[in-house]
Amino acid sequence: MRKKIVAGNWKMNCTFDEGQKLTSEIVNMIKDERSKDVTVILNPPFVHIPSVKKLVGEISNLFVGAQDCSDQESGAYTGQVSAKILNSFGVKYVIIGHSERREFCSEGNDLLANKVKQALQNGLTPIFCCGESLDIRENGSHEDFVTQQLTESLFDLSPEDISKLVIAYEPIWAIGTGKTASSDQAQEMHAAIRTHLANKYGQEIADGISILYGGSCKPDNAQEIFSKPDVDGGLIGGASLKSRDFMDIIKSF
Ligand code: PGA
Repeated sequence: MRKKIVAGNWKMNCTFDEGQKLTSEIVNMIKDERSKDVTVILNPPFVHIPSVKKLVGEISNLFVGAQDCSDQESGAYTGQVSAKILNSFGVKYVIIGHSERREFCSEGNDLLANKVKQALQNGLTPIFCCGESLDIRENGSHEDFVTQQLTESLFDLSPEDISKLVIAYEPIWAIGTGKTASSDQAQEMHAAIRTHLANKYGQEIADGISILYGGSCKPDNAQEIFSKPDVDGGLIGGASLKSRDFMDIIKSF
């Protein structure tokens, strides 16, 4: 059985107080509602990590993740945060290759391959993001584009390492736009990703990797999207900033 996962990506939102309030509300609701079979991950901006972690405490299905890590181990890289440092703060997951970092920080597939390796070497689970822009979707090459992202960033990994990954399919045209992919569009791409993984690593390994959908996932569409056989959860942006919406998404399985 694959893990069901809902990860909140706060992006560059929340002051200290807002982050504390949001986390406290989620912690209280998770305790009450006991959605224990869903792995929930909060990915705040780096500086929130210690205080969010403290509030999260020892809840067995709630984890703290980061939104990025460096491709370097340590040293003179001003402004960057290494996977090793994140691990030392108790971080378990790290988003790698989000389309906003690919676009605004010019992160390419080779660099992302190194970030994935850094994360794995330091005991973090990468949530590796892939996804196509609207023009690529419209010219029909979206499957080729996404599978190439995976090949170039992940296919140097050993079978053991690839098994540790979480993959997030996030069509860029659906991120923050209110325009979600249909559940059929999501299923089609998730199945293509799984087949691509199976062709390289075998069906058993591919069947064990959780593939999340991201892009305007909300309480009113999560259930439909999560009902698809190859969709194992969501990477949630805007709706993860409202505790009630986030919890409703977690309960959508
Ligand atoms: P969104 O963002 O839910 O606000 O569309 C998703 C993401 O970018 O991870």
